[in-house]
Amino acid sequence: MDVATLRKILELERKRGYRDDAVFGGLDRYLQRRASEFPDSLLPASYAVLDRGQRGEWVKSMLLWLDGMEGGTAKPQPEKKEAIKYEKLDEPITTLKGISANLATKFRRLGVRTVRDLLYFFPRRHIDYSKRKTIAELEVGEEQTVVATVWEAKEAILGGRRSTEAIVDDETGNMRVVWFNQPYLAKKLRTNSQLVLSGKVSLFKGMKVFQSPEYEPLTGEDLTHTGRLIPLYPLTEGLSPRVVRRLVKETVDVWAPRLPDFLPEGVRRLAQLLELSQAIEQAHYPESEPLKDSARKRLAFDELFLIQLGLLQRRRDWQEGGKANPIEPDHKLVEAFLSSLPYALTEAQRRALEEILADLAKVRPMSRLLQGEVGSGKTVVAAAALLATAASGYQGAFMAPTEILAEQHFSNISRILAGAGRQKDEEPNIRIFSSLLPRPITVALLIGSMKMGEKKRVHRAIVEGEVDIVIGTHALIQQEVEFGRLGLAIVDEQHRFGVMQRSALRQKGESLHLLVMTATPIPRSLALTLYGDLDLSVIDELPPGRQQIKTKWLEPEEREKAYRFLRKEIGDGRQAFIICPLIEESEAIEAKAAVREYERLSRDVFPDLRLGLLHGRLKAAEKEEAMRRFREGEVDILVATPVVEVGIDVPNATVMLIDGADRFGLAQLHQFRGRVGRGEQQSYCILVAESPSEEGRERLSLLERTQDGFGLAEEDLRLRGPGEFFGTRQSGLPDLKMAKLSDIELLEMARREAIRLFKQDPALSRAEHQLLKSEVARLWQDGFTGVEA
Ligand code: ADP
Ligand code: MG
Repeated sequence: MDVATLRKILELERKRGYRDDAVFGGLDRYLQRRASEFPDSLLPASYAVLDRGQRGEWVKSMLLWLDGMEGGTAKPQPEKKEAIKYEKLDEPITTLKGISANLATKFRRLGVRTVRDLLYFFPRRHIDYSKRKTIAELEVGEEQTVVATVWEAKEAILGGRRSTEAIVDDETGNMRVVWFNQPYLAKKLRTNSQLVLSGKVSLFKGMKVFQSPEYEPLTGEDLTHTGRLIPLYPLTEGLSPRVVRRLVKETVDVWAPRLPDFLPEGVRRLAQLLELSQAIEQAHYPESEPLKDSARKRLAFDELFLIQLGLLQRRRDWQEGGKANPIEPDHKLVEAFLSSLPYALTEAQRRALEEILADLAKVRPMSRLLQGEVGSGKTVVAAAALLATAASGYQGAFMAPTEILAEQHFSNISRILAGAGRQKDEEPNIRIFSSLLPRPITVALLIGSMKMGEKKRVHRAIVEGEVDIVIGTHALIQQEVEFGRLGLAIVDEQHRFGVMQRSALRQKGESLHLLVMTATPIPRSLALTLYGDLDLSVIDELPPGRQQIKTKWLEPEEREKAYRFLRKEIGDGRQAFIICPLIEESEAIEAKAAVREYERLSRDVFPDLRLGLLHGRLKAAEKEEAMRRFREGEVDILVATPVVEVGIDVPNATVMLIDGADRFGLAQLHQFRGRVGRGEQQSYCILVAESPSEEGRERLSLLERTQDGFGLAEEDLRLRGPGEFFGTRQSGLPDLKMAKLSDIELLEMARREAIRLFKQDPALSRAEHQLLKSEVARLWQDGFTGVEA
């Protein structure tokens, strides 16, 4: 029995003054359905006939009884209708009565293919037609419902179109009802039939008129379009709201009561959730607002719970599926490498590195997330781990989200290794260093835009174990890439990849150690959901001497002022970035716009300065060249599309000018800002926005005031919601229909319950967990089909 919902209903009833309107259809009907769950002595013969005082007494006694119930001594559940076979749910909707192939095609456009899809095809919202009035009581402008008798209905020309006009009455009066453009209704509405009408009433020549209300005949059966909370479903061409409602209702009525519940009874009770069948029914046609909320809660819980179970399983498969090769770090070598750096590691970097090296030495494969603010120095930690791996005779792979970033990592890591050793040989994509180890160590680059021949050469070197460290994009996880002895895989800027790519990379080695890195400081509970399969290391400290980056938001008219400022900084020997506005349509259009902006700036604004251009459509070699020239000071201003968002590192750059700043999210703006302030010099971030929305203004002014990436990420989450902040598509997690990642409380509960269950039955092998097991498998399967590798 659902104690929480009944309690909410009773409390609502009390709040509204015992008018018997807390559930649609009245309490009697609600209680009747559940009569077997209560002791007979508790139930009134009829709530409706009680007076106000008596109702108050009874509600009070029920609430008291419920207090006792929450101790958990519920009566056994009534016999349920025979459950349907689980597989039935996967049959196409054409097996349902009344759904033709033609109709099914239309439903498919809404993502509905199977019976299960239809049961889980939830309304966007509900409209409340539960306020039942008499004709005399109707008020203009409100959503309300009457039950009336048809006097006459006839076709009429209204506004020049064939329409229907009817006169209806009840014991308090009569009124006109019109339906524009629906002449066929005239024949359907029989004189003397009883009709339920729901909608808004307007005044016409001083008379109340229903204009195009929802309608349906009053029969003994449940209402579908009127008189209650009515679902509004997403629609597509050729599917009317009435058709969708009718089909969903028929399906839910027949199937929901016989749905087996995959959630173990114990979990359901502890989390105080509705049964699945009730949740599905109430999500579509709720009997009351509290029940609607309870239904949402149950269904949202399911999604989060299944995600957590999936992640826990992944982690276990990963850790117990096979033994990793223990990589015993050569501490002398690591120390020698660290002392060759021009700086000392921060405490936080040291701690993270130690955690990683300790994991590497184990037979249990590492599965770790390294989270660190922009500029906190994750790359060097990664480099040290890769070096330790190479020293033990294993290969290391380092995957970055963009080619530019992969190339930059390649040249950075080459540079810091060259500091400790000696670069022996240089080819465009393969570099060899000696004197670090007794043998030479080889670093290779692998990205999609390399020539076929070069790629093949690198592939071969990788499989033959000639390469120690490979740095690349997701070119690394392509099928044709085989590693000889891959020991450690690192994924940079994890927020750009999903669970899917993580898995693909894992498959490259027998059981390898995995480290993923992210600069997105997400709140802990969210991190646990998105990365529930990982351990966490945090670099919560920036290298010393980092300054506050002065951030200013300028009006478009002040652009000249910004340009003057850039000129002055460049006069002092510094460099600057100019980020062109984000254009979501396509990378090609974005690149074109950037070229135009580059030409305009070169010709009209900075004809005497050296400008460079960087966008996603350049060839790899051109990008590398543009980056190199900027890094080496041959270029004063780098005009770039948002591709520079992640990871680019040029210490002499002191100004970041972001055009169209309102189009970016806070976390992304913060990433851009992190591109400057990497050297000794005071650095600046200038935001220019054409006509920001209210929320855009809030974002920009927040960025002016705050430097703390963590705080900004939380704000971003609040302002834009998790969908924008962290598309589930991007995260690689299954789609969420009901759950909101901002619902921290439910998230934590789902995680807690998942861990508890997982401890008892990690493989979900018990008989009572079979449905749950297939549900987890199905959700993760579906979740994967939508994600590109
Ligand atoms: P992120 O964590 O954003 O990837 P990077 O690894 O790109 O940061 O490091 C940012 C900059 O900080 C680089 O120029 C790097 O050389 C420098 N750096 C890293 N660690 C330290 C340190 N301990 N002291 C000083 N500078 C450091
Ligand atoms: Mg980085």
